[in-house]
Amino acid sequence: MQIYKKILPLTLFSCIMKHFFVIVLWGFFNSCTPGSVPLLPAQDYDFSPHLHYLASDSLQGRLAGSRYDSLTAVYIRNTLLHCGYAPLCEEGWQPFEYKVAKRGSNKPGTRFSRNVVMISTPYDTSACAETVVLGAHFDHLGLGGWGSRRADTAAVHNGADDNASGVAMLLELAKKITQYPAPLKRNVVIVAFGAEELGLIGSNHFVRNLPPHSGKIVLMINFDMVGRLDTLRRLEIGGLTSFAGADSLLYTLPNPDSLTFFFPSHIKRNSDHAPFYAAGIPVLFFHTGLHADYHTPDDDVDKINLSGMHAIAHFADSLIRWAVTTEKPPVFQQTDIARKSSLLYERVEHILKVFDRKHLISQTI
Ligand SMILES: [Zn+2]
Repeated sequence: MQIYKKILPLTLFSCIMKHFFVIVLWGFFNSCTPGSVPLLPAQDYDFSPHLHYLASDSLQGRLAGSRYDSLTAVYIRNTLLHCGYAPLCEEGWQPFEYKVAKRGSNKPGTRFSRNVVMISTPYDTSACAETVVLGAHFDHLGLGGWGSRRADTAAVHNGADDNASGVAMLLELAKKITQYPAPLKRNVVIVAFGAEELGLIGSNHFVRNLPPHSGKIVLMINFDMVGRLDTLRRLEIGGLTSFAGADSLLYTLPNPDSLTFFFPSHIKRNSDHAPFYAAGIPVLFFHTGLHADYHTPDDDVDKINLSGMHAIAHFADSLIRWAVTTEKPPVFQQTDIARKSSLLYERVEHILKVFDRKHLISQTI
């Protein structure tokens, strides 16, 4: 035993010295990995299977109203059922119809799509029940055409970031919520919205036709394009002006992966949180920003920053835990500054659209 005590440290020392430069180089390259975050426990969040399926060519870009749209909805509903969620609407579907005008080569007519609406179990069915809604849209642009930034190219727009990333986040957070210690003070409703890209059709339909037992919605958190966290770990969180104390709350919550927050002063109306905000509901909107592949066939799964999604999920998990346990839920406010800056933002966006339809962000993301 004595021999080990003497020899082992010496052997280790000589071994470390021998590989000194290799160790230094390994550390250097690892610290330079784009978007890298500290190593996380295995199976923390399992985004990959969702991303690979939702953004695969087999779903042909998940165009609203297509049979691929239905297949996507079935996948989301079944995943949530498997986690223990119950349908809030019949079988979890909230169907709706909408009309589309002729846009580019797309044919005009009436189309049908649906929201997937599920609730955590067991849930409070009393008249005073409160609810936290988590949402993400699952549709995208199909083979392109209207809405694509390469409108002349017919190719599968896989929409890995927009918005397979948001749906993967939604499903994995939903799974995490089932591990929270019961009872929760509020119900959690998970909504995967259809037909967002055509103008927030699914989310508008949901807000105007709340299913029975939706309760009083005290907060809506929207995930749209959360797969491209950059090397500075900048996460945009919109909606802060929709309830008092939101910014101090977000700085108080655990941020184990050192995300850098960007809080827009106005509430953008380009994603599914907008109808909730318009209905007087506090909202938060998670987003990692637009990029060169946005609304093109190049928005693919190999460009998703998985470690970045883990970092966002850790933070979102803290936020959701707060929302379902806090004594005093957020109270809606519409500040004058928020209203004015929102109007200004819309005017600037409209002017830019008139001048550059090709490169500017479309109405929704
Ligand atoms: Zn989009």
